[in-house]
Amino acid sequence: MALKKTLTIAGSDTSAGAGMQADLKTFQELNTYGIVALTSIVTMDEKTWSHDVSPIPFDVFEKQLETAISIGPDAVKTGMLGTQEIIKRAGEAFVESGADYFVVDPVMVCKGENEVLNPGNTDAMVEHLLPKATVVTPNLFEAGQLANLGTLKSIDDMKKAAKIIHQQGAKHVIIKGGKALDQDKSYDLYFDGKQFYQLTTDMFQQSYNHGAGCTFAAATTAYLANGKSPKDAVIAAKAFVASAIKNGWKMNDFVGPVDHGAFNRVEHIDVEVTEV
Ligand code: ADP
Repeated sequence: MALKKTLTIAGSDTSAGAGMQADLKTFQELNTYGIVALTSIVTMDEKTWSHDVSPIPFDVFEKQLETAISIGPDAVKTGMLGTQEIIKRAGEAFVESGADYFVVDPVMVCKGENEVLNPGNTDAMVEHLLPKATVVTPNLFEAGQLANLGTLKSIDDMKKAAKIIHQQGAKHVIIKGGKALDQDKSYDLYFDGKQFYQLTTDMFQQSYNHGAGCTFAAATTAYLANGKSPKDAVIAAKAFVASAIKNGWKMNDFVGPVDHGAFNRVEHIDVEVTEV
């Protein structure tokens, strides 16, 4: 049987833990054929690891989309898009591609915490991406920004944000508590418009988990393409990324990526699912 085709519209992380590299590795691990339309290239200073983002010229971005659309992806994922123009075009490209599933990872910062790269991007994502999204995968910070609720601190806050993001048009919402929720376990909240579910795993090491967010969204995309329901896809993606995080490794003094292959090569981790 032919492999399902999964397209990522994202940036390149030269250190290769996150970005389109994380997406392609995850697609490969989960038996889909990964395709890329690159928005930008992120490089790191060897002495400080400060990040430099080089945008791909828009006409080159457009040519990649044309190629990717002609290949006919079954599912499309977005990562770091960078500008409002690219955000709008990514939403259109999903529609033009005829793909069945659209996973929106609403990346707002390249690295670090609370400084949004470009605040107008949040509104553009709400306008152009969320109404088309099969699943949207914000972390706590991104969910607070999308829902305009500021800092989310609890599962109840996450529920409020999930309802708003669902009203903005995303059919399925998963808010990743992850390490940001500051609990003893790793909690994510899934909402299908009717029912909330809490997805829980143990909390693993927090030092070497660069790329966790991209890997989670890419795994969701691959599982959807291969036929899982959105709820089962996010549960499976959480298990996939939990193995990757538990086996994260130190690359240098600045960064440690997740191990994208740990789920297949090393171990499976249980996810507890409870209605909340
Ligand atoms: P990041 O923003 O650090 O890339 P996310 O918050 O997007 O990571 O989380 C991606 C997934 O990994 C979510 O399912 C989240 O709950 C989970 N996760 C993040 N950190 C940990 C950790 N230290 N241990 C277990 N799961 C984690």
